[in-house]
Amino acid sequence: MRLCPFCTQTLRDDATVCKHCTRAVVPVPVIGLTQPLTAAFLMPAAVLVIGIFTMLISAVPGAPRGMVLPGWLISWAGCALLLKGSGAVVRIGGGFILSLLMMGLAVSCNAAR
Ligand SMILES: [Zn+2]
Repeated sequence: MRLCPFCTQTLRDDATVCKHCTRAVVPVPVIGLTQPLTAAFLMPAAVLVIGIFTMLISAVPGAPRGMVLPGWLISWAGCALLLKGSGAVVRIGGGFILSLLMMGLAVSCNAAR
């Protein structure tokens, strides 16, 4: 709730017109997450995290080194699922480029050990 600047009566935050004096008022912007934290977002995000983790696991001493490629495929799937609302070309192509960048980072991390 807030006060009307003209008549000082209480107004709802999203009101554009004061119901008491009928003058136009500027609504208060409602601040919230643009991307709601739903299963539709968390599921591909979890797939992406698992993929990155799988790529990075080869950096752990004693761990098998062949985990980069399966990790890259998993993170590609996660990226493609996250880029929803776009066409299939953007999802798969964008996911390919994003996951390739992440694999580059993972490989340089692994090489640094
Ligand atoms: Zn008013």
